[in-house]
Amino acid sequence: MTTVIATHGLAKRFGRVRAVDGVDLDVRAGDIYGFLGANGSGKTTTVRMLLGLVLATSGEVEVFGERMPRAARQVLPRVGALIEGPAAYGHLSGRENLALLDASGPGGGRRTRRRRIDEVLEQVGLAGVGRRPVKAYSLGMRQRLGLAGALLRRPELLILDEPTNGLDPQGIAEVRELLTELNRSGTTVFLSSHLLAEVEQMATRVGVLDRGRLVLQEQLAVLTAPTGSTVVTSPDPAGVRSTMNGRVSSVDGERVIVSGGDPAEINAQLVGAGVPVTGLALERPTLEAVVFAAAGASTDRAETKVSEHRRRPWRRGAERAGSRPINAGDEGE
Ligand code: ATP
Repeated sequence: MTTVIATHGLAKRFGRVRAVDGVDLDVRAGDIYGFLGANGSGKTTTVRMLLGLVLATSGEVEVFGERMPRAARQVLPRVGALIEGPAAYGHLSGRENLALLDASGPGGGRRTRRRRIDEVLEQVGLAGVGRRPVKAYSLGMRQRLGLAGALLRRPELLILDEPTNGLDPQGIAEVRELLTELNRSGTTVFLSSHLLAEVEQMATRVGVLDRGRLVLQEQLAVLTAPTGSTVVTSPDPAGVRSTMNGRVSSVDGERVIVSGGDPAEINAQLVGAGVPVTGLALERPTLEAVVFAAAGASTDRAETKVSEHRRRPWRRGAERAGSRPINAGDEGE
């Protein structure tokens, strides 16, 4: 598998703050790489270093096998990027903003350029409002316009910092669909997010940043592979326990965890014993559990729990603005 982004010991200090601390990223061709981390964990700083917008204090960045920022002129035309609240001229329309952006690069005559702009406006769902001035756009529309700009050059690699920021659930679903579709047609996608559910739904590979350190990097399918146990749902959990004879590891209401990864075999035994079964599934860890375990392990090494309550404002899902941030230490409260 070809490596598209590789960093080695990448680090950035701002005075005494170690914003990024020895990060080894490994992003491969065809990945949708979800770069997860709480607010302030160093995602934006890392993304900026990938693009050569911020100089690393130490370590190396390679994109398409070329050293950044040295090879920026060769690398950047192959990359589409969207970083923190895309800038646009408010008095111009979305289409005019894109035309300016497009004119700054190569790419043929007027008709070709117009077609290209139509296409990206369509892709991000702004075709109907492309002629309205950007100052009348909602935050979500501006975010889409930023995405449209990133797509203009049909990039091989998309680097997106919190691409669904400011979008409503419908907009989030559309962006997810768009990125999945682009990925299917060959684009490698690197996206940063603090939304676990967003990454879980979309990513093929996950990296987790915790206070500047990469505490986890793996294929999503590996992280959430079956544990070897089966989740049995039954209105008679006591019946499940007695029938399965020592194989039950936990009971939570009607949800019973039975060791063994063959639901059909378990079902046959339960039905044979007259125990009603309303649900059967292989047990898999959620991404949330895996991430908290990885980040928790690094916390145990470095810090007390008390300060951690305040410091890790993870969000569980694609909630709307204003919902309560979920802290790592909040579980079970
Ligand atoms: P968010 O999701 O809130 O954008 P993030 O994970 O992208 O967070 P960064 O913006 O990379 O995190 O910030 C990481 C740390 O570096 C923070 O402590 C931040 O205050 C600090 N930092 C970032 N940029 C600068 C800067 N230009 N000067 C000083 N400190 C900075």
